[in-house]
Amino acid sequence: EHPMMKYSNRTKNSYREMEKAANYLPGGVTANIKHFSPYPVVMESAGGAWIKDVDGNQYIDYLMAYGSLALGHGHDDIKQAMADQLAKDGTVLFGTPHPLEYRFAEKIQAYYPSMERLRYTNSGTEATLLAIRLATAYTGKKRIAKFEGHYHGGYNEVLYSINPPLVAAGEMDDPRPVPESSGLEMFTDQRPVILPFNRWQATERLLRQHADELAAVIIEPVQGGFIPAEKQFIEDLRKLTATLQIALIFDEVKTGFRVAMGGAQELYGVKPDLTTLGKVVGGGFPIGIVGGKEAILNRSRPKGNGDVFDVGQGKSSAAREILFHSGTYNGHPTILAAGLAAIHRLEQDFAHTVLYTETMRKDIEALGRKNGIPLKAVGVGTIFNVVCTETTIRHYRDLQKTDLELRKQIDFHLLNEGIYTKPLNRYSISTAHGERELELTLTAYETVLKRVFK
Ligand code: PLP
Repeated sequence: EHPMMKYSNRTKNSYREMEKAANYLPGGVTANIKHFSPYPVVMESAGGAWIKDVDGNQYIDYLMAYGSLALGHGHDDIKQAMADQLAKDGTVLFGTPHPLEYRFAEKIQAYYPSMERLRYTNSGTEATLLAIRLATAYTGKKRIAKFEGHYHGGYNEVLYSINPPLVAAGEMDDPRPVPESSGLEMFTDQRPVILPFNRWQATERLLRQHADELAAVIIEPVQGGFIPAEKQFIEDLRKLTATLQIALIFDEVKTGFRVAMGGAQELYGVKPDLTTLGKVVGGGFPIGIVGGKEAILNRSRPKGNGDVFDVGQGKSSAAREILFHSGTYNGHPTILAAGLAAIHRLEQDFAHTVLYTETMRKDIEALGRKNGIPLKAVGVGTIFNVVCTETTIRHYRDLQKTDLELRKQIDFHLLNEGIYTKPLNRYSISTAHGERELELTLTAYETVLKRVFK
């Protein structure tokens, strides 16, 4: 049976639900990324490592809400922490300072000492946006540089060259900015300088060439959460950006508490000027964090009359020198409680989850070899991706040259075998993935690779 036939037969209710949803939501989805062809699986319940769709099919979930759910679905620690917080405070939201805001910051700083001061936002997108504004205010420069294939959220100046067609993107060592969306016309003069990841000579040349206009370089130090920067590359980038007075932003929304508890900066022993976090730190609820050097973060400090607690009301010129940062839900107490519970649990379980992930990667690669299929499980910590290639993946262009069609085919077969990840997506492992899930996953892989490709 053709995998697509089997897929449509198994997911009839998903199809119906998507049809209904499309009457209200463009394409039936609330985020473009949730869509895949021919139509996505619609889920209705989940627990631990498992997720169940509207047709009653059960899957082992490797999407884990794009890596947000480090403890799996519906972990008791998180539910309990939120319930306790709600009971203790008697409210859902203060809209005022509350002690958990700095207590949570203290915990984050213990793992990310480069975040000397920090601010909360409601998403990773908002965190990178604020990081770029901070860098701009601090350096007085007007443009940013980003790497080809790196994602930092969905707004104008970073919405370039995330998944560009290689022809449009130009030479490997002189990539052109390719908009990722329509509706960006208003921002064409804010196009970022695009850099080639893990290619130092070209990166150095471009940074020197644009040094006078660049406020910041923003980077996913492990691209997509699975392609690591080479150590020398990230060290050279740190040195050169410091020399050229360009702020270095590590976007650790994906890598934070995944490639290591202390993120890529712990892995490499490199200190960025600014860091953004998200996903895991909210325990599955919306959050972002931006932090970094005190001198930079203090741009957002309300100061007014020289008094740190004076917002400068009525002194409009002083107020305007202050970098604007606001948000009704920033530092939401229930979300901070959830995030803290997630981090506490990871303090116990992270090392084991890393070992588990490494075993899974090795076993998947071994199954590929055994069945004559070029499979690499590329990653660090508790996140990886399966790529169909014999060669080493160092950057976006290498990834584009892998056999994406084969990978998609495997993904649909795996969906039919009860393994859930969005086609072509990476695998995020949670503390809820156990020996039984590993065994079932490898059996499914074996079935798919052996029966289907022989
Ligand atoms: N930066 C990176 C590296 C991400 O992976 C993401 C989300 O996938 C974002 C930023 C944006 O975060 P959010 O989806 O919370 O806005």
